[in-house]
Amino acid sequence: MNSSGSLIRLSASALSAKLSSGDISSVEVTQAHLDRIAAVDGDLHAFLHVSANALDTAARVDASRRAGAALGPLAGMPIAIKDVLCTIDMPSTAGSKILEGWIPPYDATPVALVRRAGLIPLGKTNMDEFAMGSSTEHSAYGPTKNPWDFSRIPGGSGGGSAAAVSSFEAPLALGSDTGGSIRQPAAVTGSVGVKPTYGGVSRYGAIALASSLDQVGPVARTVLDVALLHDVIGGHDPRDSTSLRDEWPSFAEAAHVGARAESLKGLRIGVVKELDSPGFQPGVSQRFHEALEVLTAYGAEIVEVSAPHFEYSIAAYYVILPAEASSNLAKFDSVRFGLRVNPPGGGTVEDVMAATREAGFGPEVKRRIILGTYALSAGYYDAYYGSAQKVRTLIQRDFAAAFDIVDVLVSPAAPTTAFRFGEKIADPLAMYLNDVTTIPANLAGVPAMSLPIGLAPEDGLPVGFQIMAPARADARLYTLGATLERLLEDAWGHTLLSQAPELKVAI
Ligand code: GLN
Repeated sequence: MNSSGSLIRLSASALSAKLSSGDISSVEVTQAHLDRIAAVDGDLHAFLHVSANALDTAARVDASRRAGAALGPLAGMPIAIKDVLCTIDMPSTAGSKILEGWIPPYDATPVALVRRAGLIPLGKTNMDEFAMGSSTEHSAYGPTKNPWDFSRIPGGSGGGSAAAVSSFEAPLALGSDTGGSIRQPAAVTGSVGVKPTYGGVSRYGAIALASSLDQVGPVARTVLDVALLHDVIGGHDPRDSTSLRDEWPSFAEAAHVGARAESLKGLRIGVVKELDSPGFQPGVSQRFHEALEVLTAYGAEIVEVSAPHFEYSIAAYYVILPAEASSNLAKFDSVRFGLRVNPPGGGTVEDVMAATREAGFGPEVKRRIILGTYALSAGYYDAYYGSAQKVRTLIQRDFAAAFDIVDVLVSPAAPTTAFRFGEKIADPLAMYLNDVTTIPANLAGVPAMSLPIGLAPEDGLPVGFQIMAPARADARLYTLGATLERLLEDAWGHTLLSQAPELKVAI
């Protein structure tokens, strides 16, 4: 193993210690990750754009460290950024042809915050177009592969961020989660991802999919690393009207507390009956129940809880999301952003708009715009959008009732391990059903994490464990997540991702 190989294997918190002691420089760390990207990304395709400024930025952070500046724990750390977030120095396409080459005039707040904390943006990661999908197969720029098996999907919509982290191209990444796009990719690639409480992280500059559901959040290989990144991006932003004004605790501290916990006595963990389905892949259910046994053995009380309205969450989500998306995507009108296609022989402004949207949007985006426009049309609003919002209220009440009796809720993070390319793309409903485990947390605005709990025996692919907490109680995810991560790694004697995913190029 050469030295840059050993650097890319380190977690952000381990790199942080070496950076602050002066053992290594940010330029070295950044170069090691750029080398890794150059070696593997041709095949993997986690990145849509690699930054030309990363080494210069790293050199500046190194210089300020040498000058004695007080730097945060993630200063000098490379980070991959989902292409849904606006970046002033890099194209921001949201995986769509309609924004090909568009460079925004400003940074999204989470991007501005990571820059301010001294992190080094490495580039923009691939995603399903406008974050619609669960496999990256809907990206207009071609799919990302799963680092564990190149014939399989890396999850979606944030497959690029999860693949970048799990293939050691970046120690950290930013994602967005409207219906699972951070957690499901984390689950199927063996990484850790968190959807924060709605309003906990600013969405200013995140290209909107469904505004009542969207959250930006962190992705990494360890619970502590995700917590460290959440500490950087969280907090109030006056530019986002849904941003909470809370004083948040340190999530890194919450993770440290969890990693040190000597027992889980007194913790009540609710297993959501409706999300522990006999229809899930057997190896996923097996690993999930084994993880519950680990938690029980450590003193936690496992309680079965019922959330009777969760069975309607996919139906409600796939009305609410297209409705909001159809409105958010109306701004891609050939005038203000990106692509403009002139119809042959000219035409009215409407003709230009139609030709541009016809050429610029892919089939899934068109499908959802049509669905959403229909659901919102006069006379249908009450039957569809209005009804879906009522179902949403019932789901929120299910959460409230459950959190009256338990501290956290848990489930498998996805019903299966990574599926094969082509398996679901022809059947939109099959793709949508894959989101059954993740969507309830978005509909209720509560925070949720996926962390790896082993490999499914039947296919050797990672399985994710989902933890959900009450709104504003994100710290509980980090405390319990760090305890479970430590218990599993002690039992295995290694980290999951050290089990040599199929990366074609050795480290
Ligand atoms: N798979 C979900 C969808 O297609 C998730 C989207 C997301 O979280 N951005 O809508």
